[in-house]
Amino acid sequence: MLCNCLPCQRLINTGQRHPNIITISHIHQSELAKCEICSSYFLYENGFWELMSPQKNASSIHSGLSKVAYMQN
Ligand SMILES: [Zn+2]
Repeated sequence: MLCNCLPCQRLINTGQRHPNIITISHIHQSELAKCEICSSYFLYENGFWELMSPQKNASSIHSGLSKVAYMQN
């Protein structure tokens, strides 16, 4: 489970922003926004929302899973 709040997960899945997404700045055609609930940063570009720091979360989840698998052995 990512550390995003439910509206942010919906945003990632559906591309629809929620009321707690606040715009920080506009960069050319892109928009930098932040969620007031979970403090996630998003980049809106070409009609898509992109989470700014998913790699860290993903890698920590993967390492957590491999630890669990290791402990079960
Ligand atoms: Zn959020």
